[in-house]
Amino acid sequence: MCKLCREKLSHRSSPSRRSFVVGAASTIGMLLAETASAGDSKAPPKPQNVVSPGAALERLQKGNMRYVKGASRRHDFEHEREALAGGQNPFAGILSCADSRIAPEYAFDSGRGDLFVCRVAGNFATTETIASLEYGVAVLGVPLILVLGHDKCGAVDAAIKSLKDGTTLPGHLPPLVDGVAPAVNAVLQQGGDTLGKAIRQNVIDNVAKLRSATPILSAAVEQNKLKVLGGIYRLKDGRVDMVA
Ligand SMILES: [Zn+2]
Repeated sequence: MCKLCREKLSHRSSPSRRSFVVGAASTIGMLLAETASAGDSKAPPKPQNVVSPGAALERLQKGNMRYVKGASRRHDFEHEREALAGGQNPFAGILSCADSRIAPEYAFDSGRGDLFVCRVAGNFATTETIASLEYGVAVLGVPLILVLGHDKCGAVDAAIKSLKDGTTLPGHLPPLVDGVAPAVNAVLQQGGDTLGKAIRQNVIDNVAKLRSATPILSAAVEQNKLKVLGGIYRLKDGRVDMVA
């Protein structure tokens, strides 16, 4: 919400829910309109990144297949640098675990300016990551968000142990446990591969959370401007399997 809208809302003595919804909707409209007009007046730095949500997914999957086969392209960073100095229009947003083995730009064989990546151990959506992705979608025109979990995730494993044993992790780690706790609690009593099930459930939960994140992401999904999907990166062969 821009400063002007915030001030307008705060000056109302008792804003009704309806007035807030109308205000939020018009703010999204303004943001989307700004994006569209910016695109009209100035060519995007990477015209090939102006694609539909479906085409963006296909591009991620093709890039991942090249990466899996060891056939990644050579990226001309020097040439791209100049084109990207004046702006960016990434074709996908990624919410990934911070694990050093999961490198989205490599995993999807992409260049600079292609992926808008937010990373946190356990790949769960916080207020800050939702805000970042809102910027990516409403201002930069990102048509696809992929929540990217991975097998053998240490953050999810630590959360399972903490919740099972009732122990509190040191330092600033407890909020990480809180972030993946809903997924862990949902599968804890099922038995079998608890870690694998929790990793998958965590991706599914966060896809749902981003799809329904009002007012910006949910509106973009509703208008078919955005798809939010989920995948799991396999450490052994680098393949990303779609799960949501
Ligand atoms: Zn992880």
